[in-house]
Amino acid sequence: MTETTETPPRTPANRGLGRGGPDERLGARIEETLALLRRIERAHTPAALASSFSAEDMVLTDLIRQHTPGIGIFTLDTGRLNAETYDLQHRVRARYGAVVQVFFPDPADVEAYVERYGPNGFYDSVPARQACCQARKVAPLERALKGLEAWLTGMRREQAVTRDALPLEEHDSERGILKFNPLAGWREADVWHYLKSHDVPYNELYEQGYRSIGCAPCTRPVTVGEDLRAGRWWWEAADQKECGLHTRRRSP
Ligand code: SF4
Repeated sequence: MTETTETPPRTPANRGLGRGGPDERLGARIEETLALLRRIERAHTPAALASSFSAEDMVLTDLIRQHTPGIGIFTLDTGRLNAETYDLQHRVRARYGAVVQVFFPDPADVEAYVERYGPNGFYDSVPARQACCQARKVAPLERALKGLEAWLTGMRREQAVTRDALPLEEHDSERGILKFNPLAGWREADVWHYLKSHDVPYNELYEQGYRSIGCAPCTRPVTVGEDLRAGRWWWEAADQKECGLHTRRRSP
């Protein structure tokens, strides 16, 4: 008689994780995520992860480099990142090699922004903030996505009200490209369990109370009970807190 088990097979990715409880749940999540990454590598390359060196992006970076190296990785250097983020970028390079392609803003766009709004004009209004994100993030993203069949993000549903219906896979109709969110169903605890149990480097800002990492002037630590992304653009309403990288039509 053949015995069946719901426990996922032991693999390099979940080696060291015990049976039952959070370990078993994480093992299942890893297997599901690996299956998706392998499908992307097999059927949708060229594809690349857009990494901001968040905890989630580090999980995906580790999985991609170990199991699906055909998937690329890029980051957008806005010019306004924290020193800790650059430090992590350097540690990633030391661990995985020069695998992260860096895209910078067009200097002419930044110069035009600063001339019109001032260096910190993003605090003055939502349109001024969005214009900064457009110059420093969205325009470089459009360059990064050129020629790709699919891109990947580290977004999760529980991160914000703007992400509560996030699918694993969608068609980014505005850009005409497939978009995958392999960690959509992961819990914050799963992310940290993975990073710690696989000794993956992460941003030191998390040790200072940050729970979402962005540009230095637009991100602050959060207090107990606050939304995961409450520290991003904290002066704006919760339903406006996206930077234009992740344009999705929400259900009415
Ligand atoms: S997060 Fe802030 S500094 Fe960064 S691009 Fe957006 S508005 Fe500019």
